[in-house]
Parts: sequence; structure tokens; C-alpha cells
Amino acid sequence: MQNLDQILREAEASFAAIDNLDELEQGKARYLGKSGALSELLKQLGKMPAEERRTAGAQINQIKDRIELALQARRDTLRDIQLQSQLAKEALDVTLPGRGSGCGGLHPVTMTLRRIEELFRSIGFAVAEGPEIESDFYNFTALNTPEDHPARSMHDTFYVEGGDLLRTHTSPVQVRYMLEHQPPIKVIAPGRVYRVDSDATHSPMFHQVEGLWIDRDVTFADLKGVVADFLRRFFEQDNLKVRFRPSFFPFTEPSAEIDMGCVFCGGAGCRVCSHTGWLEVGGCGMVHPNVLKHVNIDSQLYQGFAFGMGPDRLTMLRYGVNDLRLFYENDLRFLRQFN
Ligand SMILES: [Zn+2]
Repeated sequence: MQNLDQILREAEASFAAIDNLDELEQGKARYLGKSGALSELLKQLGKMPAEERRTAGAQINQIKDRIELALQARRDTLRDIQLQSQLAKEALDVTLPGRGSGCGGLHPVTMTLRRIEELFRSIGFAVAEGPEIESDFYNFTALNTPEDHPARSMHDTFYVEGGDLLRTHTSPVQVRYMLEHQPPIKVIAPGRVYRVDSDATHSPMFHQVEGLWIDRDVTFADLKGVVADFLRRFFEQDNLKVRFRPSFFPFTEPSAEIDMGCVFCGGAGCRVCSHTGWLEVGGCGMVHPNVLKHVNIDSQLYQGFAFGMGPDRLTMLRYGVNDLRLFYENDLRFLRQFN
């Protein structure tokens, strides 16, 4: 029985040294468990005379109660410490300044497309859209490019199952528009187009904007005026030189390439313009009578022009970007410069 006080002191010291709840429960077993120190003493009671047994039993129970009290006290202390540290970890300093919400910006090509639409709307053009998956008829045949036409090889086309294709230009939108509207027709068609092509100046997906003006007396002079005026306003250069070089497209006759004076060197010659002083920015021409025939417009009564330009290229020239792929990699360091 002289051990009892020692057991109590040991238990109290051992609980005090434990600083986590799991270990505390293991420590409890050492004193109060089935094979703990007190149980061992209780087992020895049977060997004692009846008189001493009662006193010893009462003493053991008293010590057991005190050990349980010590255990509970330590348990409460540890729970409190745990709670305090959890509260400290989750503390929220409401006096800190807020993070604010991030603000995105428009993609540079989107800014260009909006600018193009705004400039053409201001001179009376409507804006039309059409599907990006097209039939062969709208993409080629209706544009005077039948199955065996050599001009088809100018477009490396993505075909989809079932014979349809990803449009190689936005011209099919013009066909759809002309089938639904009678002249006068004055419309631009901006959108995504697709060709099998990929390098620093070509992407398999890129943008195009085409324009179309059909009426009784629309001439090549109108074409030159509209295109040159657009380029001067787009690049904000009143004296920008624009020239038209003879070319070939199946859907226009006559056809021309559109060049403008180099915006980087002012025509003196630099790396961007290959030292010619000129930059190629699009194609155009008077709409071929066969195209009008496909959309039931009388080419004896009506004529007009069409042109196509690349918004991606216009964006590169306007902002001095030298690699087309930058527009599609979505690198925030690049995009933020336009924000
Ligand atoms: Zn130049």
C-alpha cells in the first residue's frame, strides 16, 4: 500500500509530461487499464485478511479517483491548447486590405475585329456571320470553284466526316447572305477560318473579314475608295499609301492584291516589308458573274465588289507583333500588354 502515493505521483508527473491527447489515452491505460498498476494491486487484495482488505480497497479506489481527476484535468488542458492553436491558425484579420477582383481584357484580335466592325458599320455595312463547318457547295462551288478547279489546291482544306469541311474563308457567308437578301447588299463577314498550315505567319485557325457591296452601279473605283479609306482609318494614317496589283481569284474578275505602304518604315524599306516598302494586306475584285448566277442575282442588272483581309495580320501590323502564334498561345505576359 505504501506504493499507492508513489503510483499517484508517477501518474500525475507522466500526464503532465504528455502533450497530445492520443498519448494521454495510452498513458491512462498504464495506470487505470486492465493490466495497469492499480489493477495489479486490486488483484493482490484477495490474498489479504478480510480486515485489511477493506481498508486497502478503499485506499486504492481513492487513488484511482485522484488519478482519474488528474487525467481529466490534463485532458481539458490539452483540448484547450489544441482549440487555441486551431483558432490562431484560422484567425481572420478583418482589418487587412481586400484582394480585389482581377480584371480581364479583350484579346488583341478581338479588339481588331471590333474596330473593323465599327469602321465598316460607320459607312453603312451590315455585319453577317455563318457556320464554321460548311458544305462543299458554299465554300467552293457557289464561289465559282467546281470540283476539278485548280484553284482548290490554293486552299489546303480540313475535311470532316460526311464530306463537309471547315470553311477555308469567310466567303461562304457572302453566298448565304446573297441567297437571303436582294441587292443593294452591303455587308462584311468577320470570323474564324481553317487551313492546313502552321508556322510563324500561318496558323491552322485564323481570322478573316470579307466585305461585299452589290448594287446597280458599284465600280472598281468604289472598291479602291472603301478599302483605302478603311486602311487609313484603321491605322490612323491619313497619308497611308494603298495600291492594287493584278491577281487571280476564281470568285472575282478582275482580281487584285491589296498592298499598303509599310507602317514600320514609311516606305523606305525594312525587314518587315522585305525592303520593298509595301505590305500585302488582302485580296479583292469585282464579283464574278458566275457567283451572282449561283445566288440568283441578275448580273445584267447588278454588279459589285468583294474583298478579304486578315484581322490577325492587321493586328500584328498595328501593334508590331512579329509572330502570329503569340495570339493563340494565351501567354498572359503577352496578353496583359493589350489590357
Ligand atoms: Zn518596311
